[in-house]
Amino acid sequence: MAKTMLGCVRTDAGQLDVKQVLVPEIEEPDDVIIKVSLCTICGTDLHMADLPLPDVVMGHEGIGEIVEMGDAVTDFEVGDRVIASCLLACGRCANCQSGDQSACQHPEGGVQHGTVLDGYQAEFVRIPFASMNICRVPDCLSDEQAILATDIFSTGLGVLERVPLKTGDTVAVFGQGPLGLCVTAAARALGAGRIIVVEPSSFRRKIAKKMGANEALDPTQGDLNYKLLEMTDDFGVDIAVEAIGKQETLYNAFKAARFGGAVSSLGVYGIEFSDLQIPVSHDSLTPNAFYHRRFVTTLCPSGTNRLKRQMDLMQYSGIDLSALWTHILPLESILDGYEMARNPESKALKISVRPNS
Ligand SMILES: [Zn+2]
Ligand SMILES: [Zn+2]
Repeated sequence: MAKTMLGCVRTDAGQLDVKQVLVPEIEEPDDVIIKVSLCTICGTDLHMADLPLPDVVMGHEGIGEIVEMGDAVTDFEVGDRVIASCLLACGRCANCQSGDQSACQHPEGGVQHGTVLDGYQAEFVRIPFASMNICRVPDCLSDEQAILATDIFSTGLGVLERVPLKTGDTVAVFGQGPLGLCVTAAARALGAGRIIVVEPSSFRRKIAKKMGANEALDPTQGDLNYKLLEMTDDFGVDIAVEAIGKQETLYNAFKAARFGGAVSSLGVYGIEFSDLQIPVSHDSLTPNAFYHRRFVTTLCPSGTNRLKRQMDLMQYSGIDLSALWTHILPLESILDGYEMARNPESKALKISVRPNS
């Protein structure tokens, strides 16, 4: 008889349930099965919960121990503590071969179906294309630190690397949720000069300072656009990062970027906004906010090598992301975590969920 386990399942668009589901099994030679020690809820999961695809175990950020491997997995061993990129790379398609693994063209890779790797909010998860997408975690890194490399810290680095950020750049980050806070930490790690964050929550502004922000502005107080120009001698910032996925923050990011600067966005707009507006020449403060800017959008850079580089950065640079972890919940109560993640007043950032403890 097939074994079952506890998992958080999307039953219908917008409906989640914690219930018994089948334990995943090896399906392809390059699969591994991981016993999940820690999983978490990502802002993207809130969008994934709304997809009209039922019977899917939720969760794309996790860490755990390999308990079973397909015959083609040769670089790892049962018992290895590993993480996996949340966007799977097949390693063979044209985009994977050209180094852009998160744009993998394989039907089960990248975001071809508008999905990411799922299944982590359960006791066990199957990882396809494991050889290309999993990475051993050094013993000195906690589960909470390493798991951030699977999505939000990699994305935080990527949104700046794709501009690319130059040493000493002035960076403004619009939104300081968990992803925006990772952008702030990444900007500091990559050598930004001045880092200005824009965030209405005083709690999140305080965490942003711990992540390396120099100044934290409340967009509800005064004229944000005027303030940012005043702070930068009327030039604007080198890189304005939109880190929420809202029309308003994207608009403000365009207004803040200097002539010749960049707007870089990691927002997932698709479900709430099918069209976006960009300011061109809207007022006397920031005329021609559109011309001669670079506009870059970024999904999570993925693949084993990407994870390995982040493990090295976390191990040797002294970067500390621990302030992101605000709550601990058992898997049985994960729906309370979704409620907290949906409520901007909750003071929840990353929620630690341990399915096997
Ligand atoms: Zn995520
Ligand atoms: Zn591929």
